Amino acid sequence: MTGVVVAGAGQAAAQLAISLRQRGYSGPITLIGDEEHLPYERPPLSKEYLAGDLAEESLQLRPATFWLDRGVDVRTGVAVTAIDRARRSVELSDGRCLSYRHLVLATGAEPRRLDFPGATLAGVHMLRTRNDARAIRAVLRTPCDVVVSGAGFVGLEAAAVACRLGNRVTVVERLERAMGRVVTRFTADHVVDQHRRHGTDFRFGDAVVSAVPDPQGRLAAVRTASGAELRCRLLLVGAGVSPRTALAEAAGLPVDDGILVDERLRTADPAISAIGDCARFPSPFADGWRVRLESVQNAVDQARYVADGIVGAGGVYAAVPWFWTVQHGLRLQIAGLVQGHDMAVTRGSVADGAFSVFCFAGGRLVGVESVDRPADHMVARGLLAGEHDVTPEIAADPAVDLKAYRP
Ligand code: FAD
Repeated sequence: MTGVVVAGAGQAAAQLAISLRQRGYSGPITLIGDEEHLPYERPPLSKEYLAGDLAEESLQLRPATFWLDRGVDVRTGVAVTAIDRARRSVELSDGRCLSYRHLVLATGAEPRRLDFPGATLAGVHMLRTRNDARAIRAVLRTPCDVVVSGAGFVGLEAAAVACRLGNRVTVVERLERAMGRVVTRFTADHVVDQHRRHGTDFRFGDAVVSAVPDPQGRLAAVRTASGAELRCRLLLVGAGVSPRTALAEAAGLPVDDGILVDERLRTADPAISAIGDCARFPSPFADGWRVRLESVQNAVDQARYVADGIVGAGGVYAAVPWFWTVQHGLRLQIAGLVQGHDMAVTRGSVADGAFSVFCFAGGRLVGVESVDRPADHMVARGLLAGEHDVTPEIAADPAVDLKAYRP
């Protein structure tokens, strides 16, 4: 009997299998993952696990017995190498073929590789997988000079951990600000201030252009575009990620910064869906434009939605996007998408480090950033899920209980 085959065995793939069984799907489910691990979660890789506060086994999303008990075949260390759409089958790197009734592409993303001189020296790292995190964790145990190239979420989280472990940290960022794509300048600057208070040095408007070896061929320093030479034993390159689309592209499916899917998360072939970091989908939170989101929420909600579709439920995908990051104990939660906002108001106390930024576009609430205000975050998710009358004036008024405005 042919069933559901998933290319990838990460966050989205695992949730798809869990949701299918929860919804009573009893056919075969096979997850094919090219990493050697059972499905695990990535967020702790730049937080608790990197800091040494979490054992590696705790990263696993479910124990091996969970998959066995539910009859989910999880094959690790094996890649899907080709899709035969006419035969509805996939080829695997171990030489086998597998037929599918429905194929789900959950291939995630991979770190963008920068091609500067010295980029392959020992001591130059990227952070995406469990193996990457294990290697970085080992270096950070002995305090040293660390350079983080790129002030995105992963780079900043790792910078905070490195700092906490006693390393001297410098963050080099090409733009004039941190977390450029997805956070308001106001909140980003607040987070950077927190890093600075802990002693991290920031060099905005600069970029690492080469890595310099010591006589043993290990990383000794990096040079930047501005001519600075920064001594370091570890360089973490956080230059963002690229969606893993090669498999889909080779099968003739449209891709453009992600595997293109419709509002039901189906590719151009209705027997194939794409979910999670690899998928670019039309979002009502971006006025119907296609977006690609890199978050646990996106992976989990899209997996649930596709599981619903496989067992016959309808509707279009419209989950509220949300995200969180933790840096130096500061918890930033984001609901909605703040890109494109034309007005923002704050709620709470910036001085006390507990506030939210409500972002509006054309008078409509589009996103809310909450710094150590988890209740605001939950209310924001509720507001963004439907119609409401919250204006900037209402959002800024501390006397108003926003819960009353939830649809
Ligand atoms: P992945 O989890 O990347 O899984 C895809 C899997 O498919 C990978 O194992 C990949 O190797 C495998 N694969 C690819 N191609 C093939 C193939 N052809 N055959 C077989 N297997 C294949 N999100 C948050 O919301 N909050 C956070 O705080 C947060 N922190 C993060 C910290 C780090 C260090 C990282 C790396 C990510 C973080 N994220 C966070 C993002 C979140 O983890 C991702 O959005 C999520 O893992 C995406 O799930 P996915 O299943 O789409 O992709």
